[in-house]
Amino acid sequence: MEELICQGCGAPIQTEDASLPGYIPASALGKNDEVICKRCFRLKHYNEVQDVAVTDDDFFTLISEISNKDGLVVKLVDIFDFNGSFIGSIKRLVGDKPIILVGNKVDLLPKSTNHERVKQWLRGAAKEYGIQVADVHLISAKRGIGMAELEDSIQELRQGEDAFVVGSTNVGKSTFINALIKHSTGINDAITTSYFPGTTLGFIDIPLDDSSSLYDTPGIVNRQQIAHYVTDKELKTVTPNKEIKSRIFQLNEKQTLFIGGLARIDFESGERQPFVCYFSNALDIHRTKLENADDLYERQKGELLAPPHKDQLDNFPAFQKSSFRIKQQKTDIVIPGLGWITLTGEPASITVHTPKGVPATVRRSLI
Ligand code: GDP
Repeated sequence: MEELICQGCGAPIQTEDASLPGYIPASALGKNDEVICKRCFRLKHYNEVQDVAVTDDDFFTLISEISNKDGLVVKLVDIFDFNGSFIGSIKRLVGDKPIILVGNKVDLLPKSTNHERVKQWLRGAAKEYGIQVADVHLISAKRGIGMAELEDSIQELRQGEDAFVVGSTNVGKSTFINALIKHSTGINDAITTSYFPGTTLGFIDIPLDDSSSLYDTPGIVNRQQIAHYVTDKELKTVTPNKEIKSRIFQLNEKQTLFIGGLARIDFESGERQPFVCYFSNALDIHRTKLENADDLYERQKGELLAPPHKDQLDNFPAFQKSSFRIKQQKTDIVIPGLGWITLTGEPASITVHTPKGVPATVRRSLI
């Protein structure tokens, strides 16, 4: 069979995976003379942007396409999963272009959070990746928080040139672009996909003025996330969708916390201290004695300790362990895609059990 190419974006047509480029539901194939993928169809008829995931190789080809162009980079991260969603290799793409770092999903942080401090933290974290940012914003694309200020900043910093929106999948890039499109009424009809040489996928091109555009680039999949090991239904429990209420456990050494059945935090040694947990409110946290933890897990995984539920246990990777010594500064123990626990900085030895392939990390505390 001759290979079909989407007439909108140029991606080879496929009917297997809706999250990849060129997808058409098999039932829609051959219905029209014009062959366009679902993403281009939504764009053409509804002015709606959908994200597609690209492979690492394609992603880097795309990156190199932008790297020698002038313009502004608008880099989106998920504030709830900063470490997972920050693409460190973006440095190559940025070159000496100015970059605005945007922390999305700020609606998930507790209301009492000091936003200025979080912005400082973001600036510092980007610097550790060797990236000097021109501006930092906290927004909620979904709730419309901080969008107007960000739009002003984009206008000011792009100095009449193009803007490129980049971010890994699931950071809320489509929600963000769709919100921008809604704001800028009048130019809606002009949204198209444009080609960059060497790419199989068009970039979505939203005109900003007569001579420059805002480009949506495809997202790269972030694999180190617990999300990949749970069902779609369980993902709804794991992913917070409203303000997170921190849950505080005063722990003695030799106590353990289970985050559902997805992760386990052992307080091996140290003075009694608070463990401040930031996870989806729908996720149960259980405390037990360290000496009972193995036994409890064996008896209760898939039941009391869930998700993952019983029928998913076979697909769930075995735990891997990471050990940390906390000293001095306030520290977060991060479980990628799931959340984090803040410790005061009181000396402590901690062992964290996470599914294999999703190692826990530590960072200076975010809030
Ligand atoms: P993309 O893959 O980066 O294009 O991400 P989407 O726009 O499809 O969003 C991914 C998920 O994050 C969806 O479930 C959105 O509803 C959610 N999301 C996007 N923006 C926000 C936000 O500002 N706050 C919250 N809480 N969720 C958001």
